[in-house]
Amino acid sequence: MQLVTTIEELKNAMAQIHAAGGSVGFVPTMGALHEGHLSLLKRSRNENKFSVCSIFVNPTQFNNQEDLVKYPRTLEADLQLIENYVDVVFAPSAEEVYREPATEQYDFGDLEKVMEGPSRPGHFNGVGIIVRRLLDWVQPDRAYFGEKDFQQIAIVKSLVHQCHIQSEIVPCPIVREPSGLALSSRNKRLSEDERAKAANIYRILRESTELNTTRVEDIQAFVAKEIAKVDILKLEYYAIVDGETLQPIRDLRDADSVVGCIAVYAGEVRLIDNIRYK
Ligand code: AMP
Repeated sequence: MQLVTTIEELKNAMAQIHAAGGSVGFVPTMGALHEGHLSLLKRSRNENKFSVCSIFVNPTQFNNQEDLVKYPRTLEADLQLIENYVDVVFAPSAEEVYREPATEQYDFGDLEKVMEGPSRPGHFNGVGIIVRRLLDWVQPDRAYFGEKDFQQIAIVKSLVHQCHIQSEIVPCPIVREPSGLALSSRNKRLSEDERAKAANIYRILRESTELNTTRVEDIQAFVAKEIAKVDILKLEYYAIVDGETLQPIRDLRDADSVVGCIAVYAGEVRLIDNIRYK
């Protein structure tokens, strides 16, 4: 495993890899790595000759300064966890990544007008900026993204299409704790009590797929009512959307692919998760 911290070093390492031939898989992350990230890296390793991982807490995608400051940073442990799964790790500083100022403006149309878009102004433009730069530098055949960030995958697919990037975007399933809680770097900020209670999020989502109704309004009301019963949880949104367009639907029969996406505060920590209805 080769650790590089500058764009020039990364480009040199990639030039050698591309010259050697064989496919390249890429997993972009913000670090504080867990089994969810590892599942992406293992898939990349299985499907490609070479694997590259980036570890970078990207400031331009944070709309909340406190969230950025409190985001866990565990580089030493991260490197140990992934050493057998990657060929190159890119762990740059913010100064290095933004030597060229972050002036790019992307338009993701209706995809960014729902869910995380209005809740986190500027977030998806920041995601677009970093993902495009990383894909330009790494030039992977495939890039792996987790379905935990369901909307992000749609945004990245749109970015790749708009910018004529040749990499294939590969969505990967959500990895959960035995309790059902989706693994997330932000879980490190939960107290034991909050973590136990946060497991209710997935329980409630699962139960919502078994209701005897197809009316979205009823399903949303059920989720809101059940979340409100857990003292430390505060619902920000629960959207049930067409899994392709991400636009809200009124009835589960209105689309071929239907996903419910939730954002919840567990104490001070904002968590997201999702579940498929169809
Ligand atoms: P992050 O470090 O949170 O930016 O995540 C980096 C990548 O790992 C993103 O594509 C995430 O969707 C993915 N990821 C994060 N948590 C999980 C999880 N529990 N299961 C699968 N993928 C995940």
